[in-house]
Amino acid sequence: MQTTAEYYCAFCGEPSTTFVDLSAGNTQSYIEDCQVCCRPNILYVSVDEDTLTVTIQTDYQE
Ligand SMILES: [Zn+2]
Repeated sequence: MQTTAEYYCAFCGEPSTTFVDLSAGNTQSYIEDCQVCCRPNILYVSVDEDTLTVTIQTDYQE
């Protein structure tokens, strides 16, 4: 099961949309390049079990 969620790039602050695989667990982290500036963000994904609301925090990948 897959959904989309929005995150804000840790580098340029622009919003990007990512695909989240809900079957991969309620907390996930992976690296994705910003769609605007192409720099790598670490995405920390958390999924609310009840509402399946996805929250994403970002951090810099050196
Ligand atoms: Zn960016």
